[in-house]
Formats: sequence, C-alpha cells, structure tokens
Amino acid sequence: MDTTIAGISTAVGNAGITVIRLSGPDSFEIADRIFKGKRKVKDQESHTVQYGKIVSPFTGEVIDEVLLTKMAAPRTYTREDVVEISSHGGYSIARSLLDLLYKVGAVPAEPGEFTKRAFLNGRIDLSQAEAVMDIIQARTERVSKVAVKQLEGSVSNKINEIRERIIDILSHIEVNLDYPEYDEEEVTSAQVKQASEEIIEELDTLIKSFHLGKLLREGMEVVIAGRPNVGKSSLMNYLTRKNRSIVTDIPGTTRDIIEEYISIEGVPVKLVDTAGVRKTQDIVEQLGVERSVKALEEADYVIVMANAAENLTEEDKDIISKVEEEKKPYVLVFNKTDLIGSSELKKLENEYPQALMISVADDTGIDKLKEAIVRYATENNQDMDNQVLITNARHEHQLRKAADFLKSCLNSVDQGLTLDIIALDMRAALEELGRITGHHADEDVINTIFSRFCIGK
Ligand code: GDP
Repeated sequence: MDTTIAGISTAVGNAGITVIRLSGPDSFEIADRIFKGKRKVKDQESHTVQYGKIVSPFTGEVIDEVLLTKMAAPRTYTREDVVEISSHGGYSIARSLLDLLYKVGAVPAEPGEFTKRAFLNGRIDLSQAEAVMDIIQARTERVSKVAVKQLEGSVSNKINEIRERIIDILSHIEVNLDYPEYDEEEVTSAQVKQASEEIIEELDTLIKSFHLGKLLREGMEVVIAGRPNVGKSSLMNYLTRKNRSIVTDIPGTTRDIIEEYISIEGVPVKLVDTAGVRKTQDIVEQLGVERSVKALEEADYVIVMANAAENLTEEDKDIISKVEEEKKPYVLVFNKTDLIGSSELKKLENEYPQALMISVADDTGIDKLKEAIVRYATENNQDMDNQVLITNARHEHQLRKAADFLKSCLNSVDQGLTLDIIALDMRAALEELGRITGHHADEDVINTIFSRFCIGK
C-alpha cells in the first residue's frame, strides 16, 4: 500500500482520550510535520511512547498535548509503519488534528481499512478480520471470548487443516492422472471416498456449531408468549429493568412486538414480547397475526406465561399447542403467585410439575426462570468455551457449499465416475473453504466485509 492512512480509532463522542492512528510508508514523516517532541519521530525507537505537542505548520498554533506511540513495520497491526497519537482534548480537537494530518499528506482511512491492510499484508486472514468486527460488536463477555479465539485463528486453523487434507487427496489424484504408470501412488476411489466421508463429518460438526455460535453472537431469541394481562411486559421490564414497554391494566392495549437485549450470565438474550398481538378475541387468530407467528418461528426458546390465579385456560392451552406445533422448546410459567394462597400454589405445582411458579410483582421465582434460559443455552454445549465455533453466517454458508461438493464426490465414486471428474468437485470444495479464510476471496466479498467495519479499525 503506498498511501498513508489516518483515522480516529476510538469511539466517536466526548472522551478523555482519543486515539488517532496513522498507517503506511510515510507515517513517521507525516507525524514529524506536526509533532514537536524531544526527538523526531523518525529517530524515536520503535514501540516506545513520546510526549509532545501537535503544532500546525501553517499557523504555528499548538493544537494539543499528546502522547505519540511509534511502531515500525512489520511488528504492527497492519504490518506497516504505524503511529498512534493519543490526544487528550476530546473529539473536536482530535478532529482538527486529523484534518491537519490530511493537509500534511495522510489520506482518510476507509471503514475497516486498517484491518483490511492487515489482511492484505498477510498478517491475518479473512475469518480473523471478521473476528475483529465481532469483537467490536460483541454484546457480552462470552461472545467476545469466542471472537478473540477466532481472531487468534481457531476457525482459520481448523479450515486450513481441512483444506490441507483435501489438497493432499487432490495431489494424489493429480499424480495418478498425470502418471498413470506409477501405480504405487494410485489413489483408489475407495480412499477418496473414505477421506471425503471423514471431512464431511468434520464440516457437519462445524456447521452444527453455527447454531450455538449464532446464539452467542446474535443472542438467544426468547419469546414471551401468553394471553393478555398475564404479565408479559412486566416480566420483560423486570428483566431489562429499562421500563421501556408500557404496563397497563387494560387488556388489549395495542403495542408492537418489543425487543430488548439483555445478558443472562454472559449469554446474550434477545427478549421478544409479543404483547402487540391481541387484535382479535380469538387467541389462535391472534397468534396467527403474521408478526407474532414470525416471532415464534424465529424463537430459540419460548416462555409461555399463564396466570396462577386462573390456572390454565383454554386460551393458554391454545398457545401451548401452537408453540408445540412449531416444535419450539418452551417453559410454562405461572405468574402472579402472590395472588393465590400456599395450598392453591401446591395444587398448581402438583398439577404442572414442569412449570415454574413466579411472581414478577413479588420478585419470586425469577432466578429459576433465568436458570432455565441459561441451562437451555448451554445444554449439550458444555464445551462451548473450548470447541471451534462458527459464528459467522458467511462461514456457515461456505461450509455447507464445501460439504455439498464433497457429497457430490461421494456420489461420483459410487457411480464409478473417473478420477478427473471427482477431482473437479474436490477442487470446488477446496475453493469454497478457501473463501472463508480469504485464500480464494473475491474482491467484492472482501470489500463488503471491510465496509461493515467502523472507520479507524
Ligand atoms: P401483559 O399484557 O401480559 O404484557 O401483562 P402486563 O405486564 O401488562 O401486566 C398486566 C397487569 O398485571 C399489570 O397491572 C401488572 O402490574 C400486573 N402484574 C404483572 N405481574 C404481576 C404479578 O406477579 N402479580 C400481580 N399481582 N400482578 C402482576
């Protein structure tokens, strides 16, 4: 890259410190045009910090006192010469500083350009670059942990391992095609078949991990369903503690589906209150309202709420059958236990041993509900902190395509097709996997990925 880019790397807004980053061949020279410290930046030792002033070469005006960090290539984020200036004047001063940098030779960084340079200079691969973005957007600690691992190369390593195995088979096939006389290197179709089967299995494991990965990244979608006035919004408010949805005594108050993101023990949860679906008297019809059905369809988990003081009504039962029809995991929750006596409560508990008894008003039983949600999220995924997780829809898509090509290899073997035909599908599978890491990336895919970044990253 022959240009030197500059951008603000910290979040926009007023802050105690703003970091401006320069990257490119002229980083040190450009910094020297505006930075006055004890030493010139070009003479400063790499990976050290120096105090100094930013002075406009045009007006002689001092713009800010700063700390300047010099990092010489290649041991830098972009593998280029990098300068980071920590200005402590907040955003507006940082902005003037940036404008000054543009005047003395730097060019504005595009969104994600620093990371893109890191990718183009071979420091990280595409899936790692995507992890950078995941870290920026991570909603909870657990999510950023997965993303950090991905940045460290967990996904890339796995994909590269699989790619190497395919390359290995391909090279055997190639030798066999080019030099059929060397029988000792011959790859029998049976070998291709066995390898393909093994790889497909590994790809399937990765594809399956996407569900959990997605859950961690986008949040587990928990839909609160139930007839009007059982306390859905109250629970939602309780859990989000934001009091964003309106709680009323009047059944049927029209509200839209309300969504909130919360974190339950590090599991990001997207809570969806279907309160707005009470347009008709008939609850099944209400549930038929497009959006609530959609909410249910997309739900990872459903809280079906009923009123403890009213036991299960026909309407409640309709809702439960609808949820069961959708084959959604759910927990039945009786709310308002504060309205009934202990003997009634016991009776209800005996009648519905799987149900949870809560009172939002009295703050009883809600911990158990939270536990149920977390248990569901982590169930069968004990090892979620250690296994390679696919969190990115693009990666999952590529994995599926690769698996399809390998399945087609299997078919070809079964049909007794020749090795050159089989090799075509193998190569296609290899390419699809290479798109995850960027070995085969298309220009527009790369551009789209980086354009989703913020400027300065
Ligand atoms: P939604 O229609 O299901 O969203 O129900 P709301 O959350 O709007 O609640 C309806 C009414 O029930 C409101 O007056 C709430 O204050 C009340 N409510 C909610 N939870 C409880 C509870 O645990 N106990 C009692 N006694 N009232 C509750």
